[in-house]
Amino acid sequence: MRTFEFSRAADVGQAIALHARSPDTVFLAGGTTLLDLMKLDVMQPAHLVDIHKLKLDQIDVQSDGRVRIGAMVSNTDLARHAHIQQHYPALSQALLSGASTQLRNKATTAGNVMQRVRCGYFRDGISPCNKRVPGSGCAAIDGLNRNVHAVLGGSKDCIAAHPSDMCVAMIAIGATIHAQGARGVRDIPFADFHLLPGDTPWKEHALATDEMITHITLDAPMPGSRSAYLKLRDRGSYQFALASSAVIVARDGNDIRDIRIALGGVSTKPWRARDAEAMLRGKPLSAALIRDAAAASMAGAQSYGQNGFKILLGQQAVARNLSRLVA
Ligand SMILES: Cc1cc2nc3c(=O)[nH]c(=O)nc-3n(C[C@H](O)[C@H](O)[C@H](O)COP(=O)(O)OP(=O)(O)OC[C@H]3O[C@@H](n4cnc5c(N)ncnc54)[C@H](O)[C@@H]3O)c2cc1C
Ligand code: SF4
Repeated sequence: MRTFEFSRAADVGQAIALHARSPDTVFLAGGTTLLDLMKLDVMQPAHLVDIHKLKLDQIDVQSDGRVRIGAMVSNTDLARHAHIQQHYPALSQALLSGASTQLRNKATTAGNVMQRVRCGYFRDGISPCNKRVPGSGCAAIDGLNRNVHAVLGGSKDCIAAHPSDMCVAMIAIGATIHAQGARGVRDIPFADFHLLPGDTPWKEHALATDEMITHITLDAPMPGSRSAYLKLRDRGSYQFALASSAVIVARDGNDIRDIRIALGGVSTKPWRARDAEAMLRGKPLSAALIRDAAAASMAGAQSYGQNGFKILLGQQAVARNLSRLVA
């Protein structure tokens, strides 16, 4: 690991001021992504601003039903919060499906949103990788791309899947990211936060360099809904999703009154399947409809060789999750 300057911020204002001191500064939250990548020499910040002591560790249920989550709330505390477990089960389940107990205890809400991809060529520090070294190429497109590479949202320059489970549940629920920087505060809709790789895969999110995430607000729960997260992977724990889905559904008798479907593991950003939702909304449920909607949720998917099986696995993640919820 290279040498770096270390500062600890006492409040958000000081964190932003410390961050402004040098262009090569990054925030340190739980450190579970950042320190790994520094040890691998993939990230080489000159200055770390430790924000883990900031008083951004509250979960507040607001009078309009929305829930405001501080950036520093740990993945464990969010998953185990009674209101989240009762009203946002898909979010609690998604969090608990990720990493390990020890990692979830350290990992923060903002750090989870900002985590980097798990592509081996990104992390090995030597292979061609446009995300790590712009213009160097993408070793994954014709290489090893079975596990952590996307069939949706990729480009000729990058196909790395977004690794977060939590973000899949959040994009299904609907959320707003609150950012603060030298020029003030602003809100970013969750669906607009993560960027498709396009021809600039090193640009991963909508945050400006001087901004930090202070909170995330979840939309109010869908009235009368049930929700669940289903993660499909090679082994039952401590592994990233090959394909996952978050489904939230509300019914009137046998009709689907409202539905949200999101996918993970198969896409370069947390993926909302709006066409599949539209196909289901207002319709009476049937096995054939679920099958058609599951196929629609993967519309436009492209195989890059080894990861082609994810096109069917993504459909399975949606169909099985929805079928279980409405059984
Ligand atoms: C072995 C292993 C297995 C894992 N398995 C899973 C899994 O199955 N599913 C899953 O979803 N995740 C998994 N993870 C990833 C884990 O969830 C993330 O590492 C974690 O959520 C990152 O949070 P952190 O607080 O530690 O972030 P850090 O490592 O501290 O930071 C990560 C990035 O976010 C930036 N950052 C942090 N806070 C802020 C802020 N407030 N504003 C702006 N930028 C900020 C940092 O500068 C850094 O670039 C795994 C990680 C490991 C190491
Ligand atoms: S998929 Fe993306 S992260 Fe992986 S090698 Fe290609 S450019 Fe790099």
